[in-house]
Amino acid sequence: MTYRLLIDGALVDGAFQLDVVDPARGEVFAQCARADAAQLDAAVAAAARAFPAWAARSWSDRAAMLGRLADAMEARAEDLAALLTSEQGKPLAQARFEVGGAIAAFRVLPTMEVKSFTLVDDEHDLIVEHRLPLGVVAAITPWNFPLILVAIKTACALAAGNTVVAKPAPTTPLTTMLLGELAAPILPPGVLNVIVDANDLGARLSDHPDVAKVSFTGSTGTGRKVMQAAAGTLKRLTLELGGNDAAILLDDVSVRDVAPLIFQAAMINAGQVCMAAKRIYAPRTLYDELCTALAEHARAAIVDDGRNQGAEVGPLQNKLQYDKVLEIIADARRRGRVIAGGRALDRPGYFIAPTVVVDLPDDARLVREEQFGPVIPVLAYDDEDDLVARVNDSEFGLAGSIWSGDIDRATALALRLQTGTIWINKHLDLRFDVPFGGAKQSGLGQEQGLAGIREFTQARVVSVSRRPLVAA
Ligand code: ADP
Repeated sequence: MTYRLLIDGALVDGAFQLDVVDPARGEVFAQCARADAAQLDAAVAAAARAFPAWAARSWSDRAAMLGRLADAMEARAEDLAALLTSEQGKPLAQARFEVGGAIAAFRVLPTMEVKSFTLVDDEHDLIVEHRLPLGVVAAITPWNFPLILVAIKTACALAAGNTVVAKPAPTTPLTTMLLGELAAPILPPGVLNVIVDANDLGARLSDHPDVAKVSFTGSTGTGRKVMQAAAGTLKRLTLELGGNDAAILLDDVSVRDVAPLIFQAAMINAGQVCMAAKRIYAPRTLYDELCTALAEHARAAIVDDGRNQGAEVGPLQNKLQYDKVLEIIADARRRGRVIAGGRALDRPGYFIAPTVVVDLPDDARLVREEQFGPVIPVLAYDDEDDLVARVNDSEFGLAGSIWSGDIDRATALALRLQTGTIWINKHLDLRFDVPFGGAKQSGLGQEQGLAGIREFTQARVVSVSRRPLVAA
Protein backbone atom coordinates (compact mmCIF):
# COMPACT_ATOMS: atom_id res chain seq x y z
CA MET A 1 0.00 0.00 0.00
CA THR A 2 1.38 3.42 -0.94
CA TYR A 3 0.28 6.52 0.86
CA ARG A 4 0.67 9.67 -1.17
CA LEU A 5 0.01 13.37 -0.88
CA LEU A 6 -2.90 14.90 -2.77
CA ILE A 7 -1.88 18.08 -4.56
CA ASP A 8 -3.95 19.69 -7.32
CA GLY A 9 -5.93 16.51 -7.92
CA ALA A 10 -2.86 14.27 -8.29
CA LEU A 11 -1.63 11.66 -5.81
CA VAL A 12 2.08 12.35 -5.57
CA ASP A 13 5.16 11.11 -3.76
CA GLY A 14 6.66 13.31 -1.10
CA ALA A 15 10.00 15.04 -1.09
CA PHE A 16 10.67 12.76 1.91
CA GLN A 17 9.33 9.56 3.41
CA LEU A 18 7.84 9.27 6.87
CA ASP A 19 7.74 6.20 9.12
CA VAL A 20 4.43 5.48 10.84
CA VAL A 21 4.47 3.51 14.10
CA ASP A 22 1.83 1.02 15.23
CA PRO A 23 1.28 2.06 18.86
CA ALA A 24 0.12 -1.43 19.87
CA ARG A 25 3.53 -2.84 18.89
CA GLY A 26 5.82 0.15 19.18
CA GLU A 27 7.16 -0.61 15.69
CA VAL A 28 7.10 1.04 12.28
CA PHE A 29 4.37 -0.61 10.21
CA ALA A 30 4.06 1.70 7.21
CA GLN A 31 5.78 4.46 5.34
CA CYS A 32 4.13 7.38 3.66
CA ALA A 33 4.95 10.45 1.62
CA ARG A 34 6.07 13.54 3.51
CA ALA A 35 5.99 16.99 1.92
CA ASP A 36 8.59 19.72 1.87
CA ALA A 37 7.81 23.42 1.96
CA ALA A 38 7.59 23.65 -1.84
CA GLN A 39 4.92 20.93 -1.91
CA LEU A 40 3.00 22.72 0.80
CA ASP A 41 3.15 25.93 -1.25
CA ALA A 42 2.03 24.00 -4.33
CA ALA A 43 -0.97 22.65 -2.40
CA VAL A 44 -1.97 26.12 -1.22
CA ALA A 45 -1.56 27.49 -4.76
CA ALA A 46 -3.71 24.67 -6.17
CA ALA A 47 -6.40 25.34 -3.57
CA ALA A 48 -6.31 29.05 -4.41
CA ARG A 49 -6.67 28.32 -8.14
CA ALA A 50 -9.55 25.91 -7.55
CA PHE A 51 -11.40 28.31 -5.28
CA PRO A 52 -13.30 30.59 -7.73
CA ALA A 53 -14.90 27.73 -9.69
CA TRP A 54 -15.74 25.74 -6.55
CA ALA A 55 -17.23 28.81 -4.89
CA ALA A 56 -19.30 29.51 -8.00
CA ARG A 57 -21.07 26.14 -7.84
CA SER A 58 -24.37 26.00 -6.02
CA TRP A 59 -24.45 24.79 -2.43
CA SER A 60 -26.51 21.75 -3.44
CA ASP A 61 -24.06 20.84 -6.18
CA ARG A 62 -21.18 20.90 -3.69
CA ALA A 63 -23.22 18.92 -1.15
CA ALA A 64 -23.95 16.29 -3.79
CA MET A 65 -20.25 15.85 -4.52
CA LEU A 66 -19.50 15.51 -0.82
CA GLY A 67 -22.23 12.88 -0.69
CA ARG A 68 -20.37 10.95 -3.39
CA LEU A 69 -17.24 11.15 -1.28
CA ALA A 70 -19.24 9.73 1.65
CA ASP A 71 -20.37 6.85 -0.61
CA ALA A 72 -16.76 6.15 -1.59
CA MET A 73 -15.77 6.10 2.07
CA GLU A 74 -18.61 3.77 2.89
CA ALA A 75 -17.42 1.34 0.24
CA ARG A 76 -14.01 1.34 1.98
CA ALA A 77 -15.29 1.63 5.56
CA GLU A 78 -13.65 -1.57 6.81
CA ASP A 79 -10.29 -0.58 5.29
CA LEU A 80 -10.55 2.86 6.89
CA ALA A 81 -11.41 1.36 10.28
CA ALA A 82 -8.58 -1.19 10.17
CA LEU A 83 -6.11 1.52 9.13
CA LEU A 84 -7.37 3.81 11.87
CA THR A 85 -6.81 1.13 14.52
CA SER A 86 -3.35 0.40 13.13
CA GLU A 87 -2.15 3.99 13.17
CA GLN A 88 -4.09 5.33 16.14
CA GLY A 89 -4.44 2.29 18.41
CA LYS A 90 -8.13 2.55 19.32
CA PRO A 91 -10.17 -0.66 19.55
CA LEU A 92 -11.70 -1.65 16.21
CA ALA A 93 -15.25 -1.05 17.47
CA GLN A 94 -14.30 2.57 18.30
CA ALA A 95 -12.53 2.93 14.95
CA ARG A 96 -15.66 1.74 13.15
CA PHE A 97 -17.69 4.27 15.09
CA GLU A 98 -15.29 7.04 14.10
CA VAL A 99 -15.41 6.01 10.44
CA GLY A 100 -19.22 5.97 10.57
CA GLY A 101 -19.15 9.46 12.06
CA ALA A 102 -16.76 10.70 9.37
CA ILE A 103 -19.00 9.35 6.61
CA ALA A 104 -22.05 10.94 8.26
CA ALA A 105 -20.18 14.25 8.52
CA PHE A 106 -19.91 14.42 4.72
CA ARG A 107 -23.62 13.64 4.38
CA VAL A 108 -25.18 15.64 7.19
CA LEU A 109 -23.13 18.82 7.60
CA PRO A 110 -23.52 19.89 3.94
CA THR A 111 -27.31 19.80 4.34
CA MET A 112 -27.05 22.77 6.72
CA GLU A 113 -26.90 25.54 4.16
CA VAL A 114 -25.87 28.99 5.29
CA LYS A 115 -28.36 31.29 3.62
CA SER A 116 -28.49 35.00 2.99
CA PHE A 117 -30.90 36.82 5.27
CA THR A 118 -32.70 40.12 5.14
CA LEU A 119 -31.81 42.54 7.90
CA VAL A 120 -33.97 45.51 6.89
CA ASP A 121 -36.80 45.64 4.37
CA ASP A 122 -38.81 48.86 4.60
CA GLU A 123 -39.80 51.69 2.31
CA HIS A 124 -36.33 53.29 2.55
CA ASP A 125 -33.91 50.37 2.48
CA LEU A 126 -33.34 46.77 1.58
CA ILE A 127 -30.38 45.39 3.53
CA VAL A 128 -29.37 41.78 3.05
CA GLU A 129 -26.50 39.91 4.66
CA HIS A 130 -25.02 37.43 2.19
CA ARG A 131 -22.56 34.80 3.36
CA LEU A 132 -19.68 34.01 1.03
CA PRO A 133 -16.85 31.50 1.27
CA LEU A 134 -13.51 32.72 2.58
CA GLY A 135 -11.00 31.09 0.23
CA VAL A 136 -8.35 28.52 1.16
CA VAL A 137 -8.89 26.84 4.52
CA ALA A 138 -6.10 25.02 6.36
CA ALA A 139 -7.48 22.04 8.30
CA ILE A 140 -4.90 21.05 10.91
CA THR A 141 -5.75 17.99 12.97
CA PRO A 142 -4.32 16.00 15.91
CA TRP A 143 -3.70 12.28 16.42
CA ASN A 144 -6.59 11.31 18.71
CA PHE A 145 -9.44 11.36 16.15
CA PRO A 146 -7.58 11.71 12.87
CA LEU A 147 -10.45 10.83 10.56
CA ILE A 148 -13.58 12.37 12.01
CA LEU A 149 -11.89 15.68 12.75
CA VAL A 150 -10.60 16.15 9.21
CA ALA A 151 -14.02 15.02 7.93
CA ILE A 152 -15.91 17.61 9.98
CA LYS A 153 -13.57 20.45 9.02
CA THR A 154 -13.49 19.47 5.35
CA ALA A 155 -17.24 18.86 5.06
CA CYS A 156 -18.06 22.29 6.52
CA ALA A 157 -15.36 24.18 4.63
CA LEU A 158 -16.10 22.61 1.25
CA ALA A 159 -19.88 22.76 1.57
CA ALA A 160 -19.59 26.50 2.20
CA GLY A 161 -17.53 26.92 -0.98
CA ASN A 162 -13.99 27.08 0.36
CA THR A 163 -11.12 24.88 -0.77
CA VAL A 164 -8.95 22.97 1.70
CA VAL A 165 -5.39 22.02 2.51
CA ALA A 166 -5.57 19.30 5.17
CA LYS A 167 -2.59 18.48 7.35
CA PRO A 168 -2.90 15.54 9.74
CA ALA A 169 -0.62 14.91 12.72
CA PRO A 170 2.58 13.14 11.66
CA THR A 171 1.89 10.11 13.87
CA THR A 172 -1.55 9.47 12.28
CA PRO A 173 -1.39 10.56 8.63
CA LEU A 174 -2.66 7.44 6.87
CA THR A 175 -6.44 7.66 7.19
CA THR A 176 -6.31 11.28 5.98
CA MET A 177 -4.20 10.13 3.02
CA LEU A 178 -6.71 7.39 2.21
CA LEU A 179 -9.46 10.02 2.37
CA GLY A 180 -7.44 12.07 -0.13
CA GLU A 181 -7.13 9.04 -2.40
CA LEU A 182 -10.90 8.50 -2.31
CA ALA A 183 -11.56 12.20 -2.97
CA ALA A 184 -9.12 12.48 -5.92
CA PRO A 185 -11.44 11.07 -8.61
CA ILE A 186 -14.54 12.82 -7.18
CA LEU A 187 -13.63 16.41 -6.35
CA PRO A 188 -12.22 18.85 -8.93
CA PRO A 189 -8.41 19.24 -8.77
CA GLY A 190 -7.21 21.48 -5.95
CA VAL A 191 -10.49 21.51 -4.01
CA LEU A 192 -9.06 19.18 -1.37
CA ASN A 193 -5.30 18.80 -0.88
CA VAL A 194 -3.58 16.57 1.67
CA ILE A 195 -0.12 17.41 2.96
CA VAL A 196 1.84 15.34 5.48
CA ASP A 197 4.71 16.76 7.53
CA ALA A 198 6.94 15.84 10.43
CA ASN A 199 5.53 18.58 12.67
CA ASP A 200 7.47 21.08 10.57
CA LEU A 201 4.92 22.55 8.15
CA GLY A 202 2.05 23.55 10.46
CA ALA A 203 3.68 26.89 11.20
CA ARG A 204 4.17 27.67 7.50
CA LEU A 205 0.60 26.69 6.72
CA SER A 206 -0.92 28.83 9.47
CA ASP A 207 1.29 31.76 8.47
CA HIS A 208 0.70 31.39 4.72
CA PRO A 209 -0.52 34.63 3.08
CA ASP A 210 -2.82 32.72 0.71
CA VAL A 211 -4.63 30.86 3.49
CA ALA A 212 -7.79 32.68 4.57
CA LYS A 213 -8.72 30.57 7.58
CA VAL A 214 -7.16 28.02 9.88
CA SER A 215 -9.41 25.43 11.46
CA PHE A 216 -7.20 23.86 14.09
CA THR A 217 -7.71 21.11 16.64
CA GLY A 218 -4.84 20.34 18.97
CA SER A 219 -3.15 21.37 22.19
CA THR A 220 -3.56 24.79 23.77
CA GLY A 221 0.17 25.46 23.42
CA THR A 222 0.16 24.86 19.68
CA GLY A 223 -3.13 26.76 19.39
CA ARG A 224 -1.40 29.86 20.77
CA LYS A 225 1.28 29.53 18.07
CA VAL A 226 -1.39 29.21 15.37
CA MET A 227 -3.07 32.35 16.66
CA GLN A 228 0.19 34.25 16.52
CA ALA A 229 0.96 33.00 13.03
CA ALA A 230 -2.52 33.92 11.84
CA ALA A 231 -2.11 37.50 13.05
CA GLY A 232 0.12 38.42 10.10
CA THR A 233 -2.79 38.41 7.65
CA LEU A 234 -5.64 38.48 10.19
CA LYS A 235 -6.78 35.01 9.22
CA ARG A 236 -10.07 33.67 10.44
CA LEU A 237 -9.51 31.09 13.14
CA THR A 238 -11.33 28.27 14.78
CA LEU A 239 -9.35 26.71 17.60
CA GLU A 240 -10.46 23.56 19.39
CA LEU A 241 -7.91 23.10 22.13
CA GLY A 242 -7.32 21.24 25.35
CA GLY A 243 -9.72 20.58 28.18
CA ASN A 244 -9.72 19.39 31.76
CA ASP A 245 -13.37 18.51 31.98
CA ALA A 246 -14.98 17.81 35.32
CA ALA A 247 -17.61 15.11 35.80
CA ILE A 248 -19.61 16.08 38.88
CA LEU A 249 -21.89 13.82 40.90
CA LEU A 250 -24.61 15.47 42.96
CA ASP A 251 -25.65 13.78 46.20
CA ASP A 252 -28.94 12.35 44.92
CA VAL A 253 -27.49 9.91 42.37
CA SER A 254 -26.88 6.19 42.59
CA VAL A 255 -23.16 5.55 42.36
CA ARG A 256 -23.83 2.09 40.96
CA ASP A 257 -25.72 3.54 38.01
CA VAL A 258 -23.43 6.45 37.29
CA ALA A 259 -19.94 4.96 37.84
CA PRO A 260 -19.89 2.85 34.63
CA LEU A 261 -20.97 5.84 32.53
CA ILE A 262 -18.33 8.11 34.02
CA PHE A 263 -15.68 5.44 33.66
CA GLN A 264 -16.56 5.11 30.00
CA ALA A 265 -16.47 8.91 29.57
CA ALA A 266 -12.95 8.93 31.00
CA MET A 267 -11.49 5.88 29.24
CA ILE A 268 -12.85 6.06 25.71
CA ASN A 269 -9.97 6.27 23.22
CA ALA A 270 -7.69 5.51 26.21
CA GLY A 271 -8.62 8.92 27.64
CA GLN A 272 -7.19 10.74 24.62
CA VAL A 273 -10.23 12.90 24.01
CA CYS A 274 -10.26 16.65 24.51
CA MET A 275 -13.71 16.36 26.10
CA ALA A 276 -13.16 13.20 28.15
CA ALA A 277 -14.04 13.26 31.85
CA LYS A 278 -10.66 14.22 33.32
CA ARG A 279 -11.49 15.18 36.92
CA ILE A 280 -14.23 13.35 38.84
CA TYR A 281 -15.88 15.22 41.73
CA ALA A 282 -18.14 13.49 44.27
CA PRO A 283 -19.82 14.82 47.41
CA ARG A 284 -17.97 13.54 50.47
CA THR A 285 -20.91 11.26 51.37
CA LEU A 286 -20.52 9.33 48.10
CA TYR A 287 -16.75 9.59 47.73
CA ASP A 288 -15.60 6.21 49.03
CA GLU A 289 -18.33 4.34 47.21
CA LEU A 290 -17.48 6.07 43.91
CA CYS A 291 -13.73 5.47 44.30
CA THR A 292 -14.34 1.79 44.94
CA ALA A 293 -16.71 1.47 41.97
CA LEU A 294 -14.36 3.24 39.56
CA ALA A 295 -11.43 1.11 40.74
CA GLU A 296 -13.46 -2.04 40.06
CA HIS A 297 -14.22 -0.87 36.53
CA ALA A 298 -10.56 -0.02 35.99
CA ARG A 299 -9.42 -3.49 37.07
CA ALA A 300 -12.07 -5.18 34.91
CA ALA A 301 -11.37 -3.21 31.71
CA ILE A 302 -9.75 -5.24 28.93
CA VAL A 303 -6.60 -3.46 27.79
CA ASP A 304 -5.35 -4.91 24.53
CA ASP A 305 -4.30 -4.42 20.94
CA GLY A 306 -7.29 -2.73 19.30
CA ARG A 307 -7.39 -5.43 16.61
CA ASN A 308 -8.17 -8.12 19.18
CA GLN A 309 -11.76 -9.03 19.85
CA GLY A 310 -12.99 -7.58 23.13
CA ALA A 311 -10.32 -4.90 23.54
CA GLU A 312 -11.80 -1.96 25.46
CA VAL A 313 -8.78 0.24 26.09
CA GLY A 314 -6.02 0.42 23.49
CA PRO A 315 -2.50 1.83 23.76
CA LEU A 316 -1.56 5.49 24.02
CA GLN A 317 -1.09 6.82 20.52
CA ASN A 318 2.59 7.71 20.68
CA LYS A 319 5.68 7.37 22.82
CA LEU A 320 5.80 11.03 23.84
CA GLN A 321 2.27 10.91 25.22
CA TYR A 322 2.92 7.55 26.88
CA ASP A 323 5.98 8.96 28.67
CA LYS A 324 4.04 12.05 29.71
CA VAL A 325 1.17 10.03 31.19
CA LEU A 326 3.62 7.80 33.09
CA GLU A 327 5.25 10.93 34.56
CA ILE A 328 1.87 12.26 35.63
CA ILE A 329 1.11 8.90 37.30
CA ALA A 330 4.48 8.99 39.10
CA ASP A 331 3.66 12.47 40.42
CA ALA A 332 0.15 11.32 41.44
CA ARG A 333 1.62 8.36 43.33
CA ARG A 334 3.77 10.74 45.38
CA ARG A 335 0.89 13.10 46.14
CA GLY A 336 -2.10 10.75 46.50
CA ARG A 337 -3.09 7.08 46.54
CA VAL A 338 -3.30 4.90 43.43
CA ILE A 339 -6.14 2.43 43.98
CA ALA A 340 -6.17 0.79 40.53
CA GLY A 341 -3.66 0.45 37.71
CA GLY A 342 -0.78 2.88 38.01
CA ARG A 343 1.66 1.20 35.67
CA ALA A 344 2.60 0.43 32.10
CA LEU A 345 1.75 -3.05 30.84
CA ASP A 346 4.66 -5.41 30.46
CA ARG A 347 4.35 -5.87 26.69
CA PRO A 348 5.49 -4.04 23.57
CA GLY A 349 3.51 -0.97 22.60
CA TYR A 350 2.34 1.99 24.64
CA PHE A 351 -0.16 0.38 27.00
CA ILE A 352 -1.02 1.84 30.39
CA ALA A 353 -3.39 0.14 32.82
CA PRO A 354 -6.55 2.16 33.54
CA THR A 355 -5.65 4.09 36.67
CA VAL A 356 -7.68 5.62 39.49
CA VAL A 357 -6.04 7.99 41.96
CA VAL A 358 -7.68 9.28 45.17
CA ASP A 359 -6.83 11.74 47.97
CA LEU A 360 -4.92 14.13 45.71
CA PRO A 361 -4.41 17.81 46.53
CA ASP A 362 -5.83 20.26 43.98
CA ASP A 363 -2.37 21.32 42.82
CA ALA A 364 -1.28 17.81 41.78
CA ARG A 365 -0.43 17.55 38.09
CA LEU A 366 -3.19 15.01 37.47
CA VAL A 367 -5.77 17.50 38.74
CA ARG A 368 -4.41 20.67 37.11
CA GLU A 369 -3.10 19.43 33.77
CA GLU A 370 -4.75 17.69 30.88
CA GLN A 371 -3.56 14.10 31.35
CA PHE A 372 -4.87 12.81 27.98
CA GLY A 373 -4.57 9.18 29.06
CA PRO A 374 -6.41 6.39 30.91
CA VAL A 375 -5.89 7.94 34.34
CA ILE A 376 -8.47 9.67 36.52
CA PRO A 377 -8.32 11.59 39.78
CA VAL A 378 -11.37 11.31 42.06
CA LEU A 379 -11.88 14.34 44.29
CA ALA A 380 -14.26 14.99 47.19
CA TYR A 381 -16.19 18.22 47.72
CA ASP A 382 -18.09 19.58 50.70
CA ASP A 383 -20.45 22.15 49.24
CA GLU A 384 -21.36 23.59 45.88
CA ASP A 385 -19.55 26.91 46.31
CA ASP A 386 -16.32 25.06 47.05
CA LEU A 387 -16.95 22.79 44.07
CA VAL A 388 -17.61 25.65 41.63
CA ALA A 389 -14.49 27.53 42.72
CA ARG A 390 -12.29 24.45 42.27
CA VAL A 391 -13.75 23.39 38.95
CA ASN A 392 -13.45 26.92 37.55
CA ASP A 393 -9.88 27.33 38.79
CA SER A 394 -8.43 26.24 35.45
CA GLU A 395 -7.15 27.82 32.28
CA PHE A 396 -9.34 25.33 30.44
CA GLY A 397 -13.10 25.53 29.89
CA LEU A 398 -14.06 23.02 27.26
CA ALA A 399 -16.92 20.90 28.61
CA GLY A 400 -18.01 18.87 31.62
CA SER A 401 -20.90 16.86 33.00
CA ILE A 402 -23.25 16.90 35.99
CA TRP A 403 -25.02 13.77 37.19
CA SER A 404 -28.25 14.20 39.14
CA GLY A 405 -31.94 13.29 39.16
CA ASP A 406 -32.77 16.96 39.78
CA ILE A 407 -32.48 18.67 36.39
CA ASP A 408 -33.24 22.17 37.73
CA ARG A 409 -30.54 21.92 40.35
CA ALA A 410 -28.07 20.50 37.83
CA THR A 411 -28.90 23.26 35.33
CA ALA A 412 -28.42 25.97 37.96
CA LEU A 413 -24.99 24.50 38.71
CA ALA A 414 -24.19 24.21 34.98
CA LEU A 415 -24.71 27.96 34.61
CA ARG A 416 -21.99 28.60 37.20
CA LEU A 417 -19.32 26.56 35.39
CA GLN A 418 -17.05 28.37 32.92
CA THR A 419 -17.15 25.98 30.00
CA GLY A 420 -18.43 25.85 26.43
CA THR A 421 -20.63 22.77 26.97
CA ILE A 422 -22.11 21.05 30.02
CA TRP A 423 -23.84 17.72 29.70
CA ILE A 424 -26.37 16.60 32.28
CA ASN A 425 -26.65 12.85 32.84
CA LYS A 426 -24.43 12.16 29.84
CA HIS A 427 -20.91 13.02 28.72
CA LEU A 428 -19.36 13.37 25.27
CA ASP A 429 -22.58 13.74 23.34
CA LEU A 430 -21.54 15.59 20.17
CA ARG A 431 -24.05 16.16 17.41
CA PHE A 432 -23.67 17.64 13.96
CA ASP A 433 -26.58 20.01 14.58
CA VAL A 434 -25.23 21.39 17.87
CA PRO A 435 -22.23 23.73 17.83
CA PHE A 436 -19.44 23.24 20.33
CA GLY A 437 -16.48 25.35 21.29
CA GLY A 438 -14.33 26.07 24.29
CA ALA A 439 -14.46 28.83 26.88
CA LYS A 440 -11.25 30.44 28.18
CA GLN A 441 -8.09 28.83 26.78
CA SER A 442 -9.92 25.78 25.47
CA GLY A 443 -10.62 27.45 22.19
CA LEU A 444 -11.94 30.15 19.98
CA GLY A 445 -15.09 29.94 17.89
CA GLN A 446 -17.35 26.96 17.41
CA GLU A 447 -17.49 23.90 15.20
CA GLN A 448 -20.50 22.06 13.79
CA GLY A 449 -24.07 23.24 13.84
CA LEU A 450 -25.10 26.14 11.65
CA ALA A 451 -22.95 28.44 13.80
CA GLY A 452 -19.90 26.29 13.11
CA ILE A 453 -20.50 26.26 9.37
CA ARG A 454 -21.04 30.04 9.34
CA GLU A 455 -17.48 30.37 10.62
CA PHE A 456 -16.38 29.19 7.19
CA THR A 457 -18.08 32.19 5.57
CA GLN A 458 -17.61 35.94 5.36
CA ALA A 459 -20.56 38.31 5.74
CA ARG A 460 -21.17 40.68 2.87
CA VAL A 461 -23.90 43.16 3.68
CA VAL A 462 -25.55 44.65 0.61
CA SER A 463 -27.45 47.76 1.59
CA VAL A 464 -29.80 49.20 -1.05
CA SER A 465 -31.46 52.59 -0.84
CA ARG A 466 -35.02 52.61 -2.12
CA ARG A 467 -35.20 56.40 -2.29
CA PRO A 468 -35.50 57.73 -5.82
CA LEU A 469 -32.21 59.01 -7.27
CA VAL A 470 -33.34 62.53 -8.06
CA ALA A 471 -31.28 65.63 -7.53
CA ALA A 472 -32.59 67.92 -4.82
P1 ADP B 1 0.53 17.36 20.38
O1 ADP B 1 1.31 18.36 21.14
O2 ADP B 1 -0.35 16.56 21.25
O3 ADP B 1 1.27 16.53 19.37
P2 ADP B 1 -0.33 19.50 18.67
O4 ADP B 1 -1.37 20.44 19.12
O5 ADP B 1 1.08 20.00 18.66
O6 ADP B 1 -0.51 18.20 19.51
O7 ADP B 1 -0.67 18.95 17.22
C1 ADP B 1 -1.86 19.17 16.53
C2 ADP B 1 -1.55 19.48 15.09
O8 ADP B 1 -0.83 20.71 15.03
C3 ADP B 1 -0.65 18.47 14.37
O9 ADP B 1 -1.14 18.31 13.05
C4 ADP B 1 0.70 19.14 14.38
O10 ADP B 1 1.55 18.70 13.35
C5 ADP B 1 0.30 20.58 14.18
N1 ADP B 1 1.32 21.57 14.56
C6 ADP B 1 2.42 21.41 15.30
N2 ADP B 1 3.09 22.58 15.43
C7 ADP B 1 2.37 23.52 14.76
C8 ADP B 1 2.50 24.93 14.55
N3 ADP B 1 3.52 25.63 15.06
N4 ADP B 1 1.56 25.55 13.82
C9 ADP B 1 0.49 24.88 13.32
N5 ADP B 1 0.33 23.55 13.49
C10 ADP B 1 1.24 22.87 14.21
